[in-house]
Amino acid sequence: MDGGKIVGIDDASAVDQEIDGGEFACPAFIDSHVHLLLGGRALSQAHLAGVSSREEFESVIRAKHETLPNDAWLEASGWDQGNWQVSSQSNTTTNARNMSSDGMPDQTWLASCGNRPAIAWRMDQHVCVVNSAALNIIAQRQDLSRDPVGGTIARDAAGNPTGLLLEQAAWKLAVPCVPEPNSAALRQAAHAAARHLQAHGIATVGSMEYSRDLISTLSPLRHELNLRIRATILDREWPVDWSLGQCVTADDALRIIGFKSFIDGTLGSRTARMLEPYCDAPEQQGMFVELAESGKLSEWMREGLSRGWSMSVHAIGDAALRAALDAADAAEKSGVRARESLRIEHGQTAHASDISRCKDRWLSMQPLHKYFDAAPALTRLGLPRMDRFFCFKQFHQAGARLAFGSDWPIVEPDCLQAMQTAITGATFGGAITRAQSNISAEIALQAFTCNAAEYLRASDTCGALKVGHAADIVSLDRDPITMDWSQHKPNIRFTCVAGMTAPATL
Ligand SMILES: [Zn+2]
Repeated sequence: MDGGKIVGIDDASAVDQEIDGGEFACPAFIDSHVHLLLGGRALSQAHLAGVSSREEFESVIRAKHETLPNDAWLEASGWDQGNWQVSSQSNTTTNARNMSSDGMPDQTWLASCGNRPAIAWRMDQHVCVVNSAALNIIAQRQDLSRDPVGGTIARDAAGNPTGLLLEQAAWKLAVPCVPEPNSAALRQAAHAAARHLQAHGIATVGSMEYSRDLISTLSPLRHELNLRIRATILDREWPVDWSLGQCVTADDALRIIGFKSFIDGTLGSRTARMLEPYCDAPEQQGMFVELAESGKLSEWMREGLSRGWSMSVHAIGDAALRAALDAADAAEKSGVRARESLRIEHGQTAHASDISRCKDRWLSMQPLHKYFDAAPALTRLGLPRMDRFFCFKQFHQAGARLAFGSDWPIVEPDCLQAMQTAITGATFGGAITRAQSNISAEIALQAFTCNAAEYLRASDTCGALKVGHAADIVSLDRDPITMDWSQHKPNIRFTCVAGMTAPATL
């Protein structure tokens, strides 16, 4: 190792290397899909992940409220209505008033904040609930009399907003009203995020970021974070300002690789666009959003690809995946090459006829979404359609290329737990879900290392233990290729980023 680079190695072709006394060195993990600043900010917000009842939700909110200065908003994230049940014995009048039919929260769940505006995001960041103080602020600046395009404002029987905002109603109406954290808080969030990722063995991330955050926060800090960032621009105004791709100077620490668009929402919120209606809500089929909704997706893809950008599309429903493939086919017919540079993000459900269309295409998947979404997906899709759910093996066999990630802060950037799910099918609660889509440890490790590096256009510098590459190494206490993942997960001894060791503890 010299100057942060590998200068010699015993076996340059090895995926993993045994070093002293039962330790194994792998290329440090590469998380293909995170939201770095959002993740860093989430570390300081109220944590609602794993909260399993309204009482618990309210006590987390109350405790956070008591720690905040008077003029601050309360921000929380991570709730999932699947974690609590509406008790059939409880007062039905109260339930009718306080919950949507889905058990999603409303403004009264945040009542302990009093006059302090509060916003609490669902774990998928596609739905939020705000309290009455926040709703008043939003109502002063936005039109709440009708739903925005691609979004829903949940309403009570009298037609008044309940505080629950879905998709574009959350992003376009609520987000602009929440005060931006100041620059010191953003810098702190970036540092906290980098430390959190390193502790999980991660040295490189593909991060979804707004240009203003790249310019004002991540670019100035790039040499302090000890983390390699390949950024995708999240700004989504149409027509696209392609010059945003050059809004920061590119070097190995930080480089913009492309642009992102959303085709649909999520399964949990029933906003993922499906080919057939939801099993538990036959009147709903999810929604196309943004450019897919306005018919501009193919044009966006063609223009971006022809400019040399890597184009990333969020597609969770099987109809969204088909729309992504149709747009890619149309773009390719016009002469641009989409195979290497189109990134399909999530691909959580796929119709068999579309899987073969993914040959040589990139799928960025998050095994921990399978872990947490398996039970709700069964409710949403019904058993017969579960064969469309997280088709790791089927994609791989069809010749698609897999890059893995977490989507942190939606779920933790725990690559080893994610590998365990992809290898064994283990999902929340200990069940094995869709073992037919399990892949080998080698394919899973490649998806978090060399494949992810190629996916993020960083394979010249990381993703393999190779002479000339950055000395990005994660040391594990077991051989990840030969061990029995159904019994164990390796532990991280340490992570080394460009030759510098980061602590293994969180
Ligand atoms: Zn994401």
